[in-house]
Amino acid sequence: MQLPTSNSTPAISSNTIADPLAKVTARIQHAAEVAGRNAETVRLIAVSKTQLAEAVAQAYACGQRDFGENYLQEALEKQAALTHLRDIVWHFIGPIQSNKTRAIAENFAWIHSIDREKVAQRLNDQRPADLAPLQVCLQVNIDDETTKSGTSLAELPALAKAVNQLPRLQLRGLMALPAAANNADRQRLAFAKLRQALQSLQAQGYVLDTLSMGMSGDMAAAIAEGATMVRVGTDIFGVRSQK
Ligand SMILES: *Cc1c(COP(=O)(O)O)cnc(C)c1O
Repeated sequence: MQLPTSNSTPAISSNTIADPLAKVTARIQHAAEVAGRNAETVRLIAVSKTQLAEAVAQAYACGQRDFGENYLQEALEKQAALTHLRDIVWHFIGPIQSNKTRAIAENFAWIHSIDREKVAQRLNDQRPADLAPLQVCLQVNIDDETTKSGTSLAELPALAKAVNQLPRLQLRGLMALPAAANNADRQRLAFAKLRQALQSLQAQGYVLDTLSMGMSGDMAAAIAEGATMVRVGTDIFGVRSQK
């Protein structure tokens, strides 16, 4: 079918994501180098919440495959518009309401934000049998902020134990969203706490390989403390309009 030119795929020169995405990739590489780590051990999750499907398609055209979304309805609409991008990997990173678990279990490969057993149980029960187990991280409220979701460090061992027993969930590691700090040392302190929590679970015998931590403003500190996934939105797609 001949498409009108106005609808055709934009040329590379009009890909506005390519340049910021390359800059973020270079920053990851640099931060890994400084930390004495192989940059290939840090996976970039492009956080596309509030961004249009077209922006996701542009990042995909640059080779980006992992995308993070926070709002279910918006994510489902974007996914429906992008079904032709077959090997795209969708990560759910937002707060999970228990009445939304079925759609999340059916439409994402990864979930970073499990913070209670009830939600984990529902996701397990609702994960379709023909899909691979859901890859999951437990979200930890590392600064014990009352306004934030995430399990406390005190409750983490019990939650890990419960989730590890669910056959349709594969527990991969921990995620945190620390309080914003503009100082690299304070950023590292919070990320170090999450790393230590992961190491403590590993010492108890859990096989875990994922530390999901670091965003646009603090990804270097997160990589210095062992992040294996950084979740970056603003520095790839630009400032979000208010939701
Ligand atoms: C929005 C969001 C991000 C990305 O934040 P930026 O500062 O835009 O890079 C990462 N993780 C979570 C959980 C988010 O909600």
